[in-house]
Amino acid sequence: MSGKPVPVEIKQSGVRELRIAWSDGQVNDFDVVELRRSCRCANCVDELTGTQILHPTQVGEDVRPQTIRQVGNYAFQVNWTDGHTSGIFTFDYLRKLAEVTNAPSGPASAEDGSAGEEESSGGGGCGSHGCGCSH
Ligand SMILES: [Zn+2]
Repeated sequence: MSGKPVPVEIKQSGVRELRIAWSDGQVNDFDVVELRRSCRCANCVDELTGTQILHPTQVGEDVRPQTIRQVGNYAFQVNWTDGHTSGIFTFDYLRKLAEVTNAPSGPASAEDGSAGEEESSGGGGCGSHGCGCSH
């Protein structure tokens, strides 16, 4: 084992899905439209501030990778059907995107449980054991 995982296979796995198989056995499916929107090139993201210049709405749902070319042993350069050709997706970045995509993103339910604790006066709940307040 040496260094970081690299793609061993990249292919279109669906109408708008790109499948990348990695040298460590991981397989990820990427939505190509999301990929296009995640472009980190100087035209899409401000190099100084890191602010995204590209607005997701500027990318149509029908955008597709036209050609995908490997750059060295660290990235892919993608030519998109919308004419964008300066996007470089490093393997590191793709792995990071895969993590975000695969991470559970359910709705946060913590707000419901702590909403009532803000009330200091008016009682309710303070008499129970384990409350922690001394009175
Ligand atoms: Zn770009």
